[in-house]
Amino acid sequence: IKRIGVLTSGGDSPGMNAAIRGVVRTGLSEGLEVYGIYDGYLGLFQNRMILLNHCSVSDIINRGGTFLGSSRFPDFRKYTIREKVVRNIKKRNLDALVIIGGDGSYIGAKKLSDMGCPCIGLPGTIDNDVSGTDYTIGYFTALETIIEAIDRLRDTSSSHQRVSIVEVMGRYCGDLTIAAAIAGGCEFVVVPELKFEVQDLVNKVKFDIAKGKKHAIVAITEHICNVFDLAKYIEKKTGKETRATVLGYIQRGGKPVAYDRILGSRMGVYSVELLLQGCSGCCIGIQNEKLVYNDISSIIQQCVHRPFRQDFFRTAKRLF
Ligand code: ATP
Repeated sequence: IKRIGVLTSGGDSPGMNAAIRGVVRTGLSEGLEVYGIYDGYLGLFQNRMILLNHCSVSDIINRGGTFLGSSRFPDFRKYTIREKVVRNIKKRNLDALVIIGGDGSYIGAKKLSDMGCPCIGLPGTIDNDVSGTDYTIGYFTALETIIEAIDRLRDTSSSHQRVSIVEVMGRYCGDLTIAAAIAGGCEFVVVPELKFEVQDLVNKVKFDIAKGKKHAIVAITEHICNVFDLAKYIEKKTGKETRATVLGYIQRGGKPVAYDRILGSRMGVYSVELLLQGCSGCCIGIQNEKLVYNDISSIIQQCVHRPFRQDFFRTAKRLF
């Protein structure tokens, strides 16, 4: 291997820059040429890339987002489009690629590997919804952002004696919501992995009011229901003023916390080491604080049934 490329794909996440930096600095120290590909698979298709040097990745470790840019490029699912991408990769003499993104990006990486372009995947997403890793790059920063928002909502919710419903990102994974509920001191949590009975929430709010509680915070993962309609319903059924807040894209931005910088750096370094050992079609994870790698095919299959962290949920419920 003489020349590699690195790209970020799917939703951006804080810590992606640290991962790119890890790839570049390790690649250079091993005598490789490292190309940064702009805007994910789209940039690969359009042949937009730049040769990176040591200084290209200076002053980025503290920055959120990804300095290479990211995109969603649905056409990459088409074989003919990927054929053109493979031609671009060959023309540029890229021997291998590091793909930083979520499970969708992993599928793209697997398909490219199967077409003769060795790829290695790094889990870069705030959602923590990738199998084969305890944590994804960006998860802990997003969690801090959410908790800060919940703390602020608590002030106003307490002053006005209201119920606050907070919608949190995570796609179909409740990890961010449960962790935010524990650390943010919420009274109720709703996650996609478990059936939601609205009557349970009504009962809980009524029970808390009867106990003398003046306000409540409810954390709910996105895509479960319309939280503004839910707020109206709760207010109608409990008589308690209720407001909904959708945190939205704020959760994706901001300075990465130390853990995400370290995780991104470790995974970036490890990805180049694995490529030099001839690894292809695999992805990196962290399990019990140790770096591991798995075949992407097995991870993609598990994504459909990513194990729900029941113990985590039980902890949250204990504290309600
Ligand atoms: P996030 O979790 O932040 O949303 P992600 O990587 O899962 O990140 P997706 O939009 O699902 O985000 O995928 C990113 C890109 O990966 C897509 O825009 C597309 O270019 C590529 N991709 C996704 N699914 C496939 C597939 N089945 N075949 C080929 N490429 C794919």
